[in-house]
This record gives sequence, structure tokens and C-alpha cells, in this order.
Amino acid sequence: MFNKIKRFLTSLFLPVDAGRRGDCNRCGDCCKLPYPCPFLQFDAEGLSRCAVYHLRPPSCRKYPRIAAENLTTQTCGFYFVVPEPVSHRVPPPVFEPAPIQAKIWATEKTG
Ligand code: SF4
Repeated sequence: MFNKIKRFLTSLFLPVDAGRRGDCNRCGDCCKLPYPCPFLQFDAEGLSRCAVYHLRPPSCRKYPRIAAENLTTQTCGFYFVVPEPVSHRVPPPVFEPAPIQAKIWATEKTG
């Protein structure tokens, strides 16, 4: 229950991890944490749906917000990747000296 309160509070203010990939496969397992939600419904094909989908709280809307809060890794369609380290990104551009300065210096020397 403590974790549910923690997920609720953190989801109010903190964004979803940028490393989250995948999509919801409508297994409905997150809607049973720790007890089945009264708004959880299943269609004829066994896929879950939320009876208050457009009014659902941020903790449901953002689940799983971070990898540590993903309690349904066996069934959830979302997963997390580690962000690429900064050193593997495109290197900064290399600037050449301004050619106009060399031209003025050459003119002074010959003139
Ligand atoms: S556990 Fe993941 S895949 Fe299953 S209903 Fe929740 S968000 Fe969707």
C-alpha cells in the first residue's frame, strides 16, 4: 500500500522516464495493484479496459513511470532502456580560424 501511495504522489509531479519504450498490451495487471480496481473491465477477447479511462489518475495514466515502479515486468508491454551516454553523442563542431585575418596580414607584408 505504501508503494501505491508513493506511485500516486510521484506521478503527480514527475514525468515518465525518457527511456520507456513499448506500449500497453491491455493485460490489465497494473490495474490489480494491490487489489483489482473497481473500474477494471475485460472485453470478450479478454483485453482490459478502464471504465473511467479519460478520468483515470496520473498513477494509472503514467504506469510504469520508471523501471523501479514497473511491478508487472512479466506481462507489461512497456520496458525501459538505459539512455545513451553523453560521450557517444555527436562531437561538437571544430571551428577553423577566420580566413579574413590571414588575408589582411598577407597584404600588410607585401605592401
Ligand atoms: S501492466 Fe502494462 S501492458 Fe498491462 S495494462 Fe498495465 S500498462 Fe498495460
